[in-house]
Amino acid sequence: MNVHDSEKIMKLMRDSGYEGTDNMREADLIIINTCSIREKAEQKVYSQLGRLRKLKKERPDLIIGIGGCLAQDKGSDFIRKYPFVDIIFGTHHIHRIPEFVKSVESAGEPVIETAFRESVESLDILTLPQNGNISSYVTVMQGCNNYCSFCVVPYLRGREESRALPDIIKEVKALASCGIREVTLLGQNVNSYGKTLVNDHDFADLLREIGEIEGIERIRFTTSHPKDLSERLMNCFARIEKLCEHIHLPVQSGSDRILGMMNRNYTSADYLKKVDRLRSICPDISITSDIIVGFPGETDEDFQSTLDLMEEIRFDGIFSFKYSDRVGTPAADFEQKVPESVKQERLRILQSLQEEHTLELNKELIGRHEDILVEGVSKNSHNDVTGRTRTNRIVNFKGDSGLSGKTVYVTITEACQHSLRGNLFMK
Ligand code: SAH
Ligand code: SF4
Repeated sequence: MNVHDSEKIMKLMRDSGYEGTDNMREADLIIINTCSIREKAEQKVYSQLGRLRKLKKERPDLIIGIGGCLAQDKGSDFIRKYPFVDIIFGTHHIHRIPEFVKSVESAGEPVIETAFRESVESLDILTLPQNGNISSYVTVMQGCNNYCSFCVVPYLRGREESRALPDIIKEVKALASCGIREVTLLGQNVNSYGKTLVNDHDFADLLREIGEIEGIERIRFTTSHPKDLSERLMNCFARIEKLCEHIHLPVQSGSDRILGMMNRNYTSADYLKKVDRLRSICPDISITSDIIVGFPGETDEDFQSTLDLMEEIRFDGIFSFKYSDRVGTPAADFEQKVPESVKQERLRILQSLQEEHTLELNKELIGRHEDILVEGVSKNSHNDVTGRTRTNRIVNFKGDSGLSGKTVYVTITEACQHSLRGNLFMK
């Protein structure tokens, strides 16, 4: 989501006459789009700020802006602590960044804007693809009403707001006409899309309509909350040809006690039932997840329940995190914090179990023919191209740049931890 917000900022500043550069020392304007979902991401911002302080000393004309979650959270405190920062803008003000830059250029005064707005205009910024891109993100909703006890998103991104369906369709058609073949629909909780709209459109309607757009070959979406995964949405995997067989469905923990404390509103049995149903509707579906280790009060038994759930499901992949306190969330005040060393050890065990599963599942694909949407020449070898299976696995195989943007058939010949190798296969 943050990557897509950064693309929007880039597009707005390009339209205002700025050009992108990979060299920070050359830039006249530097904007850091921050994330504070986990402590690690927040720490990265502070070390970047240290570098920027030095740069601003050397070049006082440099304009520095801080946007995103952390800016939303810290607001004017930030300017007090980092007086060399010129612009602080919250998550609902991305569309106003050119105006903020202009104001600093002309008045030389810092700008701070972190208020929440009822309607978030930045959702409607169309970022047309850079040359050669075949895949694009499309924001369909923002904010979250779920209030998981560990999470800052509802406080920093605000209440859920869905974009009108016709606006999204218009955007996807524009992307298709620029050569985009694959769209990934984004939202903190995409499957509750439509709840804030006055008409009756839900996420399944949106998928169905995008499925009709000429030029778009693949549709993906992220992230889905297990409690909102409806039968209607699950059936889309069988009914909408362009919808890829992959769902990112964060379970967070396998312990019902911890899930309750997390305020996730499902049990591990509910989750397993949804997974079974998904697999019966779409046997090849790839299922990935987010898992947190070391939530306050997590015992060895709770952690074992997470490992047991992983054994039972065999996720295709996971993102795993050590729990970190986020100020203002209920979990930050929970007692029985898990020591760092225990969190670290649990993370290691969990990740090595997942590595086993990923490799085993990848190996099961050897000999199979897969549809690959080619993204371009591989970064590691000029003789190879790289693309993805519909289940979102990376596949490298011999081929040239002429294949970019095309869907080809590949026989899988080799399985590694993070990717597959194959041979172009003629049907
Ligand atoms: N809306 C998505 C997730 C958004 S945040 C969802 O509900 O699934 C992405 C992931 O960061 C979460 O799924 C969670 O696993 C992790 N996360 C969020 N807050 C965290 C915290 N305080 N400590 C550790 N991990 C956290
Ligand atoms: Fe955070 Fe929970 Fe909302 Fe996801 S669903 S953004 S984890 S509050």
